[in-house]
Amino acid sequence: MPDPVISLDRVTRVFPAEPPVRALAEVSLAVRRGDHLAVVGPSGSGKSTLLNTLGLLDRPTSGSYLLDGVETTALKDGARTRLRGERIGFVFQSFHLLAHRTALENVMLAEVYRGRGPSRAGRRERAERALARVRMEHRAGFQPNRLSGGERQRVAIARALLGEPSLLLCDEPTGNLDGHNTGLLLDLFDDLRDQGHTIVIITHEDEVSERAGRRIRITDGELWEE
Ligand code: ADP
Ligand code: MG
Repeated sequence: MPDPVISLDRVTRVFPAEPPVRALAEVSLAVRRGDHLAVVGPSGSGKSTLLNTLGLLDRPTSGSYLLDGVETTALKDGARTRLRGERIGFVFQSFHLLAHRTALENVMLAEVYRGRGPSRAGRRERAERALARVRMEHRAGFQPNRLSGGERQRVAIARALLGEPSLLLCDEPTGNLDGHNTGLLLDLFDDLRDQGHTIVIITHEDEVSERAGRRIRITDGELWEE
């Protein structure tokens, strides 16, 4: 069996409100290296809370979250931020690329912002390799406004892959793409899985969830494997 990347054990997240909101209710989940998993569920079901928890952007109220075997719930903020930078690549619906930088610079800057990353030497080569993995090397010098939506998302994925994260966490990655580009992006996710990457995608599109190896439905903060 491949190593577990994610291990959630009875994770609950309660938001203080009147009455309190239980956005995650004793959720348990194991994701192993190379898994390709889609999380689907209606609005308000807890998808963002789950994503924020997995991405170490939010802390459970109770329960345990092991990332690569490291218990994250008790870590101090600095250690959590460091672990997030080292182990997690984020992909967002709206790409979040810098407008006045080229594709290559957008990828290179990921290392700069991550801080304490590898040294400057080789930064350009690492970014070029990441662009090549998403088949965007021929657009390295283009700024985002000269790229299609699908190409922008490929650059964003190259940026997320830099530093070899254990986990690629994608929030509605095809939400701004047309059908053709969605298909191309799903092909890319297949390639990445074949290369051994672990991918969790939050989506409400059937086409996306049907292509994933595992499908998890979330309803009222509870998970069901389909
Ligand atoms: P989804 O992403 O599936 O739409 P969320 O994870 O954003 O759902 O929200 C799950 C539930 O938690 C919802 O009922 C939402 O209103 C509630 N919630 C989310 N964030 C907060 C917050 N900061 N304070 C109070 N309630 C929240
Ligand atoms: Mg949401």
